[in-house]
Amino acid sequence: MGEAKIIDGKAVATRVRERVAAAAARLREEHGVTPGLAAVIVGDDPASQVYVRSKGQACTAAGLASFEHRLPTDAGLSAILELLAGLNADERVDGILVQLPLPTRIETRAVIAAIDPAKDVDGFHPLNVGRLWSGEPGLVPCTPQGILLLLRAAGVPLAGAEAVVLGRSGIVGKPVAALLVAADCTVTIVHSKSRDLSVICRRADILVAAIGRSQMVNAGWVKPGAAVIDVGINRVASEGGTRLVGDVDFAAARHVAGAITPVPGGVGPMTIACLLRNTVLAACRRRGLSDPAGL
Ligand code: NAP
Repeated sequence: MGEAKIIDGKAVATRVRERVAAAAARLREEHGVTPGLAAVIVGDDPASQVYVRSKGQACTAAGLASFEHRLPTDAGLSAILELLAGLNADERVDGILVQLPLPTRIETRAVIAAIDPAKDVDGFHPLNVGRLWSGEPGLVPCTPQGILLLLRAAGVPLAGAEAVVLGRSGIVGKPVAALLVAADCTVTIVHSKSRDLSVICRRADILVAAIGRSQMVNAGWVKPGAAVIDVGINRVASEGGTRLVGDVDFAAARHVAGAITPVPGGVGPMTIACLLRNTVLAACRRRGLSDPAGL
């Protein structure tokens, strides 16, 4: 049996972050602009705190300004909307992200809709979702954008390829399907109500797994030579502790696939890199500047 090429997400993400840093430096020198990202966090969910902190550190490392706004767990919708109105109006802020999930009593949809679409670096605002599906320029969700950058970096042919996306969430499955369609793939989306999952997946030249089910995709689901992108992040018990695994049985699938992303070290690092990228793109577009070359 052959061995798949391992798609090194850390290496690709490092290159994206270097390009972001170079573009930010040029913006500063040529236009006196420092792109800024504001993160809004409601409550004290420990995982969210870690994510927001690492996003802030990544901004600083790339020469971007980072602002953090914390609201208490019991903050109401009106307090969140008031904060967002201030960030929408703040010239130092080019990107706004609201760390999800929000406390369940807050209507997430209303919060996302209150972000200025020009600063919506998560790409979740309905206007940006519509732009993505209608092929107009907009801000694209970070994990799906990262997946496309990985496929391109690995030299996977896209035009005419049969792509199967496992999962139909608004943050991964649907937007990655939109990007693959835009890249001229023939795309099928499957989900928990789909029949014959393994048969459909085995047709795929490009298989994107985003279901949050540990190692559900086994070697029998993978077409020999396919590119397999594993988005899943699942914590499982292991030797008295825990470890992270994807939605794909990596150890088995790597003998069938042509190229495959590991977990961790595949899609994960691309998400923050694309968030920084979106912040720089937003900084340029808001000021009528063209997108930085090579970003
Ligand atoms: P989600 O909102 O829970 O959506 C999961 C999707 O998978 C749904 O469409 C669901 O179908 C489908 N699904 C669930 N179980 C299934 C099954 N047994 N067979 C077929 N389809 C099934 O999850 P998500 O936010 O898209 O995230 C998916 C995974 O990616 C998670 O592990 C998450 O942690 C990870 N993730 C990673 C990153 C990263 O940066 N690497 C970013 C985001 C998410 P229905 O629609 O029918 O319910």
